[in-house]
Amino acid sequence: MKPVSNLSQVPFVDGELYFVPLGGSGEIGMNLNVYQCDGQFLLVDVGITFGDDSTPPGIDVICPDVSALRSVREQIVGIVITHAHEDHVGALHYLWNQLKAPVYCTPFTASVARRKLGEAGLLDQVPLHEVLPGSHLQLGCFDLEWVTLTHSIPEPNALVIQTAGRCVFHTGDWKLDPHPLQGDHYDDRRLLALGESGVEFVVGDSTNATVEGWSGSEAECHKALLEVIAKQPNRVAVTCFSSNTARLASLGDVAHETGRRVTVLGRSLFNYLQTAKSTGYLKNFPELVPTEDLDYLPRSEQLILATGSQGEPRAAMARLAKGEHQDLLLEPDDTVVFSSKVIPGNEKKLDRLYDLLSQKKVHVVTEKEAPIHVSGHPCRDELRWMYRALRPKHVIPVHGEERHMAAHAELASELGIGSARVVNGDVLHLAASGATMIAKVATGRLGLSGSSLVPLNHRALTERRALADGGLMTLTVVLDQKARLVTEPQIQFVGVPAGEIDPESLQSDLQYAVEELLSELNSRTLQSDDALRNELQREVGTLVRRWLGVKPKQLVNVIRL
Ligand SMILES: [Zn+2]
Ligand SMILES: [Zn+2]
Repeated sequence: MKPVSNLSQVPFVDGELYFVPLGGSGEIGMNLNVYQCDGQFLLVDVGITFGDDSTPPGIDVICPDVSALRSVREQIVGIVITHAHEDHVGALHYLWNQLKAPVYCTPFTASVARRKLGEAGLLDQVPLHEVLPGSHLQLGCFDLEWVTLTHSIPEPNALVIQTAGRCVFHTGDWKLDPHPLQGDHYDDRRLLALGESGVEFVVGDSTNATVEGWSGSEAECHKALLEVIAKQPNRVAVTCFSSNTARLASLGDVAHETGRRVTVLGRSLFNYLQTAKSTGYLKNFPELVPTEDLDYLPRSEQLILATGSQGEPRAAMARLAKGEHQDLLLEPDDTVVFSSKVIPGNEKKLDRLYDLLSQKKVHVVTEKEAPIHVSGHPCRDELRWMYRALRPKHVIPVHGEERHMAAHAELASELGIGSARVVNGDVLHLAASGATMIAKVATGRLGLSGSSLVPLNHRALTERRALADGGLMTLTVVLDQKARLVTEPQIQFVGVPAGEIDPESLQSDLQYAVEELLSELNSRTLQSDDALRNELQREVGTLVRRWLGVKPKQLVNVIRL
């Protein structure tokens, strides 16, 4: 099916409900889901994803392309953010100018969103409404209810969406944690009651649908962290996802239990700690020791929390591993604990980090050595529990890559529940009989380059990758009116090592080749900038490839006096 460029081109029928994922289906990250009914659009989550080895250099943040919403922007009745993780709220300030609809979320999420909007100078422009967990709200034709679940951050909410005679349970991110260590327990009574009253569709988290069993409780993770940290004689530095406030709660408790004081390295950890405390969470978290006071604290009493659990080069943990952190140097027999999973694509970065730490004789503990991380997403037994409680007729797996969504659909069918497979851009009609795809809209990924959002296949980003791969060669020829060289051709290389070849003789050989070429070309070619540029590129490119074995990006300037 050929995608249309805009949702206004989709033949929606009044009185019916439609679901359109624009991000997060077929990938982990940048969740953005759209519901449509009676000419009104409801957005659920506006998240980012992060660049990895496969994205163009310099692109760290990626947003979903929402141009399909452009012509229906006035019809967006609201944007609901289910919880405060970056893959759900992180793109709000980047995409605000394209959305401009009131935002609804619970207080902790609102606090995180407010900080981001404030940093982007948008705080006074965005109507941000706080909704209490468990409450109801009518947004246009959508009757909404927030249902409390558990995850790895305060206030993870599912959303019950009722309209056009349909009832959809949109899970957001969740797990069943009987001992979440922070925030509320999941509202099992409400879930069972919803099952009684009749949920037709679940649009749900597929992240761990390939993993049997239960994801495990944060309380078990706390126990493992305590065991690991209690037996270390020297300094311990722990890195985890900054937004994993459940883990921060565990680590705060471990600090109390092991007589250690906590120092935080990295801005995003500070931000989440502050936000959690200001909204009533992490009440028992210990007072922080400023970095300048660390010298007065024995190593055995130090617990350092550092950003950079995925080996991000600018984050605190990478700088500690390289010995480049301005506030702290790790010493032999210190221990670094990676209390996080490895996101696929980051393995190499992390292996390099482990090596650097080992070279410093620092002990490294990852989740391979001890159960010091639990996932925040439901494994198969949790999905089974949820579906037995809700008894939906149909499941639409989202929030996952193809294999996660396929496993999720297969689990639903094991329970006798129908399922529909979607990828970003599919327009599904949600009817009593099930979900049917009626159209496709264009979707895509936009990379943040400076302050601009640019499609990842944009020419500038393709060029950037070519520059990173092969370097740059510039050639400038200055010609008089008869197309004769006025001065020697200027040739420069950037990021291209000359290897065995003497750079000066390389220069002069290339200059000679350019002069020869100019003397051989006919006057028509010489008078045309484009034709001349092509000839120069071909000739010099061939020589550079032959002599250096590389194919740098070429920039040829023809200047005529
Ligand atoms: Zn989440
Ligand atoms: Zn998520």
